[in-house]
Amino acid sequence: MALKLHDTLSRSLRAFTPRAGRPVGVYACGPTVYLPPHIGNFRTFVFNDLLHRYLEWQGHEVRFVMNLTDVEDKIIDGARQRGVDITAVTAPQTEAFFADLRALGVRPADVYPRATEHMDAMVGLVERLIEKDHAYERDGSVYFDIASFPAYGRLARVDLSQTRAGAGLADRARGIDADEYEKADARDFALWKAARDADREVGAAWPTPWGEGRPGWHIECSAMSMAELGETVDIHTGGEDLIFPHHEDEIAQSEAATGQPFVRYWLHVKHLKVNGEKMSKSKGNVFTIADLVARGHAPSAIRYLLLMAHYRSELNFTFAGLEDARGALRRLLDFSRRLEAAPVAEGAAEVGLAAAAAVALETFARGLDDDLNTPVALRALFDFVREANAALDRADEVPPAEHRAALDALTSMDDVLGIVALARAEEEGVDQEFAAWVEERLDARRDARARRDFAAADAIRSELGARGVVVEDTLQGVRWHRERGTADVASNR
Ligand code: AMP
Ligand code: ZN
Repeated sequence: MALKLHDTLSRSLRAFTPRAGRPVGVYACGPTVYLPPHIGNFRTFVFNDLLHRYLEWQGHEVRFVMNLTDVEDKIIDGARQRGVDITAVTAPQTEAFFADLRALGVRPADVYPRATEHMDAMVGLVERLIEKDHAYERDGSVYFDIASFPAYGRLARVDLSQTRAGAGLADRARGIDADEYEKADARDFALWKAARDADREVGAAWPTPWGEGRPGWHIECSAMSMAELGETVDIHTGGEDLIFPHHEDEIAQSEAATGQPFVRYWLHVKHLKVNGEKMSKSKGNVFTIADLVARGHAPSAIRYLLLMAHYRSELNFTFAGLEDARGALRRLLDFSRRLEAAPVAEGAAEVGLAAAAAVALETFARGLDDDLNTPVALRALFDFVREANAALDRADEVPPAEHRAALDALTSMDDVLGIVALARAEEEGVDQEFAAWVEERLDARRDARARRDFAAADAIRSELGARGVVVEDTLQGVRWHRERGTADVASNR
């Protein structure tokens, strides 16, 4: 089996073929680092991670690039209101974004190019387009001449031939400042915007041969993609809202400049809904990772929920769904610990673990090969858990090779999904902290007893009891464990 991807340009499933002698180049449109991204954005970012991990799982060398849009009108307005440079707005947001990615177990990109650090590449690309008569300058701004690029509209399948001369469809679709700048054709879009005083005040103006200014959003991605991955990238991803005009415009700029195909496979993620509705501030349904964590939800459960639906299918976020995700993860965690602790014995009779592991891996890969169908892959994983649990119920002992095969299969599937290891790290991270606290209290109790202050010793025992810690004084020393229902950390002292 081989990986097939749904390519938006051809609206079809196409076998993915890498190009010889170079890593698979993936460009993912990243966030505007102005506000913390919401869980909808993270549907797209977690999907990117799945793609990244699965390509590597298949043995491809991958060069994964995600840009950070760190100059943009909202950022400029925000900086002006606070009387600071744009970097004072974007730097903390960038850090917070990386912290969210780490919390969600996202494998880092090879590089996160920032728009403000690629001004030369952007200006160079605009110059090339002017030289080739695909762009023109007006009052210090530069526009792409859509009429010069007949393929315009192919990705989004929009027909702009009806909208010449001020009809403004393209402008309305992209919600841009149709009246602010004088363009030759209402459909043309800005590659570069002349500097306003407001931009200079906050450090958002860069020199060019045609005067100071700031880049348009679309040119950022074309320039950074080419700078990091060359003129043609293998896979370009983003949420479905980026098809038009962002990606349509990226194609026009890039291909008009280079004469080469810009992207081999276009992948777009369907928008996440919340309680069946589009996310919006006015509905109060825009949640960040921090919002959900503050309500007691683990990032692993968020990640799991975001992977539950195929990326081109509807996915509706609800708190009930998040609870279900937590329950499903619990099963996986319990299984992973049980499997690790299973009694292994040389010469034990076969129990069917290796066979179940082989079937699971095969079904898992077949699902992901089919345009990264995560529901199929997750089903393969849970079928495996059910069968392996049944095998462990039946067997007193497991042959080492079967035990190894089952552990390897679980680890391998989780290398792609990234949920079990993440959930374990979360739980064990908490437990380590908790265990350290218990140890510290037990030391204090021992000291109290040594000085025959039994009241103090009993008080500590009650304090531990209140947090679910059962203390046993045995001949071998003090032992403790957590009450049933809490995580099973135990220690011998
Ligand atoms: P932005 O910072 O707005 O450019 O968005 C970052 C990424 O999140 C882009 O790829 C968007 O297409 C994507 N995105 C925005 N809203 C949603 C949503 N509700 N569901 C999934 N992806 C989204
Ligand atoms: Zn982009």
